[in-house]
Amino acid sequence: MRLQILGCWAAAPNSKHRTTSQVLEVNGHLLLLDCAEATQITLRQHRIKFTRIHHIFISHLHGDHVLGLVGLIMTFRMLNRAKPLHIYGPKGIKNFVCSQLKSLSAYTDYPLIFKELERNAPEVIFEDNKLKVTTIPLKHRIYANGYLFEEAPKDRKLLLSKVLNYNIDKAYFNSIKKGKDILLDSGVCIKNEELTEDPPPPKRYAFCTDTAYYPPIAEQLKKIGTIDVLYHEATFLNSHEHLCIPTGHSTAQQAGKIAKAAAVKQLILGHYSTRYGHLQAFIDESQIEFENTHLAIDGKVFEW
Ligand SMILES: [Zn+2]
Ligand SMILES: [Zn+2]
Repeated sequence: MRLQILGCWAAAPNSKHRTTSQVLEVNGHLLLLDCAEATQITLRQHRIKFTRIHHIFISHLHGDHVLGLVGLIMTFRMLNRAKPLHIYGPKGIKNFVCSQLKSLSAYTDYPLIFKELERNAPEVIFEDNKLKVTTIPLKHRIYANGYLFEEAPKDRKLLLSKVLNYNIDKAYFNSIKKGKDILLDSGVCIKNEELTEDPPPPKRYAFCTDTAYYPPIAEQLKKIGTIDVLYHEATFLNSHEHLCIPTGHSTAQQAGKIAKAAAVKQLILGHYSTRYGHLQAFIDESQIEFENTHLAIDGKVFEW
């Protein structure tokens, strides 16, 4: 998986800071996660091809996560896009997009397909042979979801020396990789476990913004299995913890607590309030709970 942070600051963009947007590459899919103001400019700055984006996942209907969406949709039309664009987000997102297009007497020549979310329990909203996407209910001032992106399970690994030992024809290799046993001409059945080993576990990325400290996030992630990378918002430092509940946000230490409880491999912090001059304290406070903490920075790439 390859994650590029396009913007990772809270509230409003300025000349140095962009608000939330990311691109995630998984097995050939290029997914856009949130679409803050100026996202189309940031995409161009990082030379990300617009034609590769077919799925956009919106966490919630706050301006710092969604104000770039209609502009991007209109630019797609100017670029003569023909392929459908799938948009996943809270109930109301369709009206948010369509009412703006209508007000501007604008339209698209390509299909816009909305999947509006309103459940408060995790649900699978996309699945193909490369990727599965599940919602992660969050606790914010308004209805919000995180998203879990999981690679589809891989085929079992063929133990070539074993297979050749039994003189098994190549034509059977695919079914062996899918877990089938093999019946030899002699009538002897060879169990699949003897011919294959487990594939590497599917890679997983959990994107969680915006949210107050909410332990059910960790409970959900822990049940699923090992999460390689968790992005968790950290709007505040402990000195402003009293602002978390009224605003529906978290501190860096609370993000670290969620990472520890979910037993993830790596934590990325983001959605920083611009009131703070430097970010080292976010790492320090998160590491009270969880050592392997990293900072999102606009433009930074994470690969795993
Ligand atoms: Zn926000
Ligand atoms: Zn918000």
